[in-house]
Amino acid sequence: MSETLLIPCPACNGLNRIPAQRLGDAPRCGRCKAEVLPSTPFELNQGNFASQLKGQLPLLVDVWASWCGPCQAFAPTFSQAAAQLQGRCRLGKLDSETNPQLSAQLAVRSIPSLILFQGGREVARQSGALPLPQLMAWLRNQGL
Ligand SMILES: [Zn+2]
Repeated sequence: MSETLLIPCPACNGLNRIPAQRLGDAPRCGRCKAEVLPSTPFELNQGNFASQLKGQLPLLVDVWASWCGPCQAFAPTFSQAAAQLQGRCRLGKLDSETNPQLSAQLAVRSIPSLILFQGGREVARQSGALPLPQLMAWLRNQGL
């Protein structure tokens, strides 16, 4: 008995079926051959957000903007978290400046904002940057 998870490809949005025990083996997309679970954050935007919300791994979204100092300072932490969470949680970055409609839809009032989605629904939100240990602790509290 092995569980299979549906996971969207960050590059082409294609849904991949990946056996749970293969999550840590750098699985490749069946359609475009990109890494389905990269160790670095991928880009979210108006065009791919709905597709990327699907799937059975949690999705952590960093809402940021290039002019925002605290966002810039937080970026390396978010990348480190992506490496630590590879195969367990997907991490995406949403540029609020180039995706104002989506940011408004998500009711983002300050940046950086962290929004955790599970099964396509928001389950937790954190406004403001966190140091890596606190970020990991916050995610552990959400069951990650
Ligand atoms: Zn793909």
